[in-house]
Amino acid sequence: MRIGYGWDSHEFHAGIPLKIGGVQLPHEKGLAGHSDGDVLLHAVTDALLGAIAAGDIGTYFPPSDPKWKGADSVTFLQEAMRQVSRAGYTVANVDSTLILAEPKIGPHAAKIQGRVAELLKVEPAAVGIKAKTPEGMGTDNAAIAHVVVLLVKNSGKGSRPKRAVETVPQPEIDRVVNDLIKEVPEQPKTGGKTRR
Ligand code: MG
Repeated sequence: MRIGYGWDSHEFHAGIPLKIGGVQLPHEKGLAGHSDGDVLLHAVTDALLGAIAAGDIGTYFPPSDPKWKGADSVTFLQEAMRQVSRAGYTVANVDSTLILAEPKIGPHAAKIQGRVAELLKVEPAAVGIKAKTPEGMGTDNAAIAHVVVLLVKNSGKGSRPKRAVETVPQPEIDRVVNDLIKEVPEQPKTGGKTRR
């Protein structure tokens, strides 16, 4: 198992679309950034990369590269997922906290949860979406996201777990054992003498 943590912030600017967690939300201001400013997907991306110690979002998508101007942050997350998969892991669950004065996230939380779950290839129940207002922080013109993610080692073909007991789920072991048992021809129950 590996744990990853990601954090990001973006400033609200008038007249641009607001995207959080891959979902466009109705609001008069959006989050400014080199890409689409999706603060939650950026934090998720960093958490994924952090969990496998594979750098951060800027390692793969430097803001200095004009190629990523206005980019859909889903692209960033998908690259992080590719790295996670290459390292032999899948996402177990993710938890997040958004800190922003407005808009209210509650009415959109289920949609954001569903979209993030889809991108991380997990059930919505494996994605925590929480939101708070920035009391006393003086960050009313920004959106902040904190994310933790838990990865588990893959047990499928091609992976070479060092310690099978730790990394192969019991149902998988049961399946393999049952298949082996099926392949063994039935032994005669009577007799007792060795046949030659
Ligand atoms: Mg960012």
